[in-house]
Amino acid sequence: MSVLLTDKFGRSISDLRISVTDRCNYKCVYCRSGNNGAQFAEMPIADYLRIARVFVGLGITKVRLTGGEPLLRKGIVEMVSELGRMRTLESPALDIAITTNGHLLAEMAQPLADAGLTRATVSMDAVDADEFARITRVPNGYDRVLAGIRAAQRAGLSPVKVNCVLLRGFNDDQITAFGRFAREEGVAVRFIEFMPLEEDRVWSPEIVVTLDEIVRRMAEFMPLREIEHTRSETARRYVFEDGVGEIGIIAPVSHPFCGHCSRIRVTSDGKIRTCLFSVREHDLAGLMLSGASDEDMVDFILHAVDHKEERHHIGEPGFMPASRTMVHIGG
Ligand code: SAM
Repeated sequence: MSVLLTDKFGRSISDLRISVTDRCNYKCVYCRSGNNGAQFAEMPIADYLRIARVFVGLGITKVRLTGGEPLLRKGIVEMVSELGRMRTLESPALDIAITTNGHLLAEMAQPLADAGLTRATVSMDAVDADEFARITRVPNGYDRVLAGIRAAQRAGLSPVKVNCVLLRGFNDDQITAFGRFAREEGVAVRFIEFMPLEEDRVWSPEIVVTLDEIVRRMAEFMPLREIEHTRSETARRYVFEDGVGEIGIIAPVSHPFCGHCSRIRVTSDGKIRTCLFSVREHDLAGLMLSGASDEDMVDFILHAVDHKEERHHIGEPGFMPASRTMVHIGG
């Protein structure tokens, strides 16, 4: 099978992320400015499905639903069912994943798994109830999210990944607690380096807790052994020396992986973004509203992919902030 979506740097695009809303029920301090409302419109679910179908016809094999908080969106289970009916160019079913804050996952994990969801990634930036509330600015979320993670495991959405963004001086005291959590709960913990994509523009290189530092500090708890990783994998993966507990680190700031990027994103209001740090979007929704055919959409997508940015410029002089922040893009 030849992947039809290949950009001018030779990267095959196989991973589509669709944001189904930019509303969120959390107000994480490093993401939101204190509100949790929407800034952009939502499309009907049928439109996201049409977009997904056209992308799958171009070689996409993995669809990740995100937001905002995707579980807030009515019809999300039915959307997963419809995605489950799609077939990739080589005919196997799509890999369908979700990134969620887990607040509503305890009730929804089984229906989502029954509908065809393959995997769940849950964001959780502390394994302590008080610190969790301080970060999310919502009381009593921790127990719900923990219940959501466990429900996802029971529903077979494994290995459940737990994403954690560390901020120096804020929650980096959680590093070894997350090590214990990975071992005890059987989840793969993924630390993500903080990127300049927040509403409040508080990012500075000093706040970022880098891959090297995380590995060093985790080793004080118990040494880690690196798992061999394929070139296209974004996370560096490790297990503890006794083989129990997986830790991954996604290090876009200190170890950029743009050269292997296989992602493309569609925002809740139907704009294509070819990079988290794009300063320009491609208005697919506008094209659809004008009555475009699927063939027109294919041409438009090919054109967008052809303009995918070579890499991000975090930390470089003249860095241009992305035209949207993370919650309004879809992480
Ligand atoms: N609401 C869902 C959730 O919490 O997973 C999906 C959207 S959220 C924006 C997706 C992921 O982006 C979360 O894991 C969050 O921690 C991460 N994130 C948000 N802002 C970030 C930033 N500036 N740098 C790195 N990751 C960020």
